[in-house]
Amino acid sequence: MRKKIVAGNWKMNLDYAEGISLFSEIVNMVKDEKKGNQLAVICAPYIHLNSLAKLGGDVVGIGAENCHEKESGAYTGEISAKMIKSVGCGYVIVGHSERRQYFGETDQLLAQKTVAVLQNDLTPIFCIGETLDERNDGSYFEVLKSQLENGIFGLSTQDFSKVVIAYEPVWAIGTGLTASSEQAQEVHAFIRKEISAKYDAAIADNTTILYGGSCNPKNAAELFAQNDIDGGLIGGASLKSRDFVDIVK
Ligand code: PGA
Repeated sequence: MRKKIVAGNWKMNLDYAEGISLFSEIVNMVKDEKKGNQLAVICAPYIHLNSLAKLGGDVVGIGAENCHEKESGAYTGEISAKMIKSVGCGYVIVGHSERRQYFGETDQLLAQKTVAVLQNDLTPIFCIGETLDERNDGSYFEVLKSQLENGIFGLSTQDFSKVVIAYEPVWAIGTGLTASSEQAQEVHAFIRKEISAKYDAAIADNTTILYGGSCNPKNAAELFAQNDIDGGLIGGASLKSRDFVDIVK
């Protein structure tokens, strides 16, 4: 059975003390909730990762929000997947739309980052999503397909089976505009169909596909009840322990 995951994405928020305090609250609130194939994850700025992993990495999975594609070298200011692994992380978000939009990250670069993440035994949470224009002009299936093909469909079957996908419509991120459960389910079913065509039905059935974009305690239950939605990637609502834990529950 595929894993169900609720992953927080703190983005560029919370100083060190604030991060420790929020994470401690979350760990205390979810420590009795942990069940077989269901998992809470927090993806945080690099400065927090070492401490979070030590504080509660056995209860809540820890992830980075990005990484560099190379292992080491003269890349001032960058952090590699190997370094992220070394502090006890299990996950890295790859290809968030904010990275694509503000940092010019292309599908080709994201394919390299995904390989680096997998080579270090970390799980990539690979993000795809269409803009509002692409949703309105009906090209969104094509856009999503090309993000999949150029980003992760070059992976071997063995590597692909370790990837978590997050569908995050750009128009829903941080806007308060959530995709309806029908809109999200339609895309998740499409993603699973594409995986099945590229790999096979068993791989498609085992791939965890998260929804992200203004997910909150009010809409999470309905979204996650859809057949092909296996949890969420949570931005704003992951900055409040009660909201995040309500979504996990
Ligand atoms: P949001 O962000 O929940 O604040 O819309 C989601 C994300 O960007 O991962």
